[in-house]
Amino acid sequence: MELDGTNTWILRAPDSDAVVVVDPGPDDQEHLQRIAGLGPVATTIVTHRHDDHTGGIDRLRELTGTGVHAVLPEYRRGDGGALDDGSVIDAAGVRLRVLATPGHTADSVSLVVEGDGGHPDAVLTGDTILGRGTTVIDPQDGSLRDYLGSLDRLIDAGEGLACLPAHGPDLPDTSAVARDYRAHRQQRLNQVRDALAALGDDATARQVVEHVYRDVDESLWPAAEWSVAAQLDYLRG
Ligand SMILES: [Zn+2]
Repeated sequence: MELDGTNTWILRAPDSDAVVVVDPGPDDQEHLQRIAGLGPVATTIVTHRHDDHTGGIDRLRELTGTGVHAVLPEYRRGDGGALDDGSVIDAAGVRLRVLATPGHTADSVSLVVEGDGGHPDAVLTGDTILGRGTTVIDPQDGSLRDYLGSLDRLIDAGEGLACLPAHGPDLPDTSAVARDYRAHRQQRLNQVRDALAALGDDATARQVVEHVYRDVDESLWPAAEWSVAAQLDYLRG
């Protein structure tokens, strides 16, 4: 589910030596050394709590002294603060506006990169939108209801702005991808509604998976069961 690994985004203004690091990635010495070699780290931000985004924060802090911003206090380090919705981080000549986009996890945020004159340039979407494939709703604290709301926020905020995801390639228009994701989710919800109509309203996630995914290799069923459980939660309110 981590695709080709985590993208670490490194941002700086053209005239800045220092950089901003978004999602240092897992505790991978070679990767973290490369980040540290790019210049002084003005600050570091994590888009959410998952280990493939946060695992490297302490090693990166050892190497560079960077503070770490995070929604959850247990991932903050040094002078890094919270990531409240609408708050702004100015560092390395770059301005980042925090957009709360819960759903993949409860603490997921996106970051709008504001360029010259405060005009937005791009959106860092973490795992809320990926460069390919679809996002998993974490069974621990994710929510499909929150996630659909977050897609609506990205549809509004991301018009014409490049999408810089935490996995997979970057994409030209955040709003367009968010719209596709929403359509895909609605289509899946309709399949689950149809399955419930056939199986009865109290069908389990496993029964729905066996009904909807009967043509799909069984090795994919456990992952499908996660997303169906999130869909059932949503439909059952
Ligand atoms: Zn994640």
